[in-house]
This record gives sequence, structure tokens and C-alpha cells, in this order.
Amino acid sequence: MSGPVKRLGDLIDDYCPRCRLLLNHAIASMVGGEVAKVICQTCFNEHPFRRGEGAKKKPPSPRATLFDQVIANMPAPAPPDSPPAQVRKRTTAAPARYISRHKGKPPHRRH
Ligand SMILES: [Zn+2]
Repeated sequence: MSGPVKRLGDLIDDYCPRCRLLLNHAIASMVGGEVAKVICQTCFNEHPFRRGEGAKKKPPSPRATLFDQVIANMPAPAPPDSPPAQVRKRTTAAPARYISRHKGKPPHRRH
């Protein structure tokens, strides 16, 4: 990697999750020449180096973050299979039919 060599204790700008601001951070640990952890110089909170990213409202960076990749690989939410209950056909309100057993004879006329 070209560019200024970073060393432990160097001050770099990064997003502090506690302050929720882009603030000065001191490099706390490095892995393979890359900054791994930083310490906020405002609240002294140690957290992984975020490369200045962290606020979700920031404009998308040219390089997709891991979070974006995970989201992109997720299947889209399945649309609801069942139609809305509103479609259910409502039976027309027919008057209750009188069922007579003895056809031809009036139902209750005992004489
Ligand atoms: Zn902080």
C-alpha cells in the first residue's frame, strides 16, 4: 500500500460510534499494516477502525461495505401468497328457506 505509513499512536480521523462523530483517533492496534483498532481522543473509547465510515446516513461509498454485501445477497422478502381477505366473496343474504318435509301439506296445521 502506498501512502503515508501509519504507526501505533498516530492520530487519524475516524467515526466514533460513541460520540457519533468523525473525530480524532489514535491508532491502538494494527494488523498487517492496516489499522485495526483506534481510540477516540474525545471519549477514549476503543473500537475497530471504521475507515471514517459508520454513520448509516452517509452517502454510499464507492466500495461496498460488508454490510451492503450481506444485504445485497439476501433474498428479497417473499410477497404474500394469499390474496387479501377483502376478496372473499360475500354470499348474498338470501332469506332462510323453510324446509318442509311433507310436500303439498301445510307445515303446521293440525286439525
Ligand atoms: Zn468518541
